Amino acid sequence: MANQTGRHFLQIPGPTPVPERILNAMSRQMLDHRGPTFCEFGQKLFADVKTIFKTQNPVIIYPSSGTGAWEAAFVNTLSPGDQVLVIETGQFAVLWRNMAERMGLKPEVLPTDWHSGGDANALEARLKKDSSHQIKAVCVVHNETSTGARTWVDDMRRAIDAAKHPALLMVDAISSLAAMDLRFDEWGIDVAISGSQKGLMLPPGMSFTAVSPKAIAASKKAKLPRSYWNWDDMLAINPTGTFPYTPPVGLLFGLSEAIAMLHEEGLDNVFARHERLSEATRRAVRGWGLETWCRDARGHSPAVTAVAMPDGHNADTFRKLVLENFNMSLGTGLNKLAGKAFRIGHLGYTNELTILGALTGVEMGLELAGVPHQKGGVAAAMAYIAETARPATAKAA
Ligand SMILES: *Cc1c(COP(=O)(O)O)cnc(C)c1O
Repeated sequence: MANQTGRHFLQIPGPTPVPERILNAMSRQMLDHRGPTFCEFGQKLFADVKTIFKTQNPVIIYPSSGTGAWEAAFVNTLSPGDQVLVIETGQFAVLWRNMAERMGLKPEVLPTDWHSGGDANALEARLKKDSSHQIKAVCVVHNETSTGARTWVDDMRRAIDAAKHPALLMVDAISSLAAMDLRFDEWGIDVAISGSQKGLMLPPGMSFTAVSPKAIAASKKAKLPRSYWNWDDMLAINPTGTFPYTPPVGLLFGLSEAIAMLHEEGLDNVFARHERLSEATRRAVRGWGLETWCRDARGHSPAVTAVAMPDGHNADTFRKLVLENFNMSLGTGLNKLAGKAFRIGHLGYTNELTILGALTGVEMGLELAGVPHQKGGVAAAMAYIAETARPATAKAA
């Protein structure tokens, strides 16, 4: 590898860079996870994590990747043969659908063109046809990390209500939580799952599941086998500040610090920062004369941008050149996007100059890889960042 000095630019949509503050917070001796110090810490943490989901309902924390929380969502609320409707926005929706099939559920997909978020009208129309309420859950990927398209969860809620359908609303917020607004209670979400390694700026290894009273009621009747993932055991013991089995103590120290950092910045400011860096990225893409994979004007992700490669140019060859020359990791294209797109992550611990540095590496990489493009993408992003900067504070008289 040619260039490994300085900081590696980890511009993938998870795992994202971990702030030094969080690394330091995790660098502590372990505690007895049933002892009084831990239980006091745990009680505060269970309360604080709810503020990130904007919920009064419980948030369950598993030592698992986000995928584990998906499995927990299914096994706790559904029974063999139950129908689930997955809005197929991209690769993560496909994985969710495939999991449903493996678990003995009957998944149906509501397709999209993979260039946009989910369509509320299509959802409403499909649910209206299901007059006998066979569909037990609607699965929505809030931020489709593979394509860089967002689905408006509040629109999905309105579609379900307009169809007067009782299905549970399950939301994959793995790459959206703490990068874009998620209002669990206000939007009537029943299960929202997330992971530690994306917007929350933590290492991988911990998942989160917010559960509504309706989801808990469903769990009383659900018949899929469950043990490790049983919500009941978690919900019974979490109020005392601890867990039914050994929790990821070090990651929980990090979580406490991450939540403090998010509130110091202010959640609205966190979301605005993501929107701004995402807009700067899109201006660069336009400046290069390239296209974002997402073509839905309302659907551009604040967390990640997938960039379509011009025909005849392989995105992974380009990514390799960028890694070897500029010590930067860009996200690969998944499934239908394999070789055809690369992804620029701009979520989590990111700022103006980080994203401008990343875009500079992309612009130079396009040149090196002989990809036809126009100059001036980085200049367009710089102009936008400068234009939207805080005005100089007026001098005191
Ligand atoms: C990263 C991601 C996942 C998978 O999460 P893991 O932590 O790798 O299990 C699922 N859905 C979305 C939208 C993601 O971004």
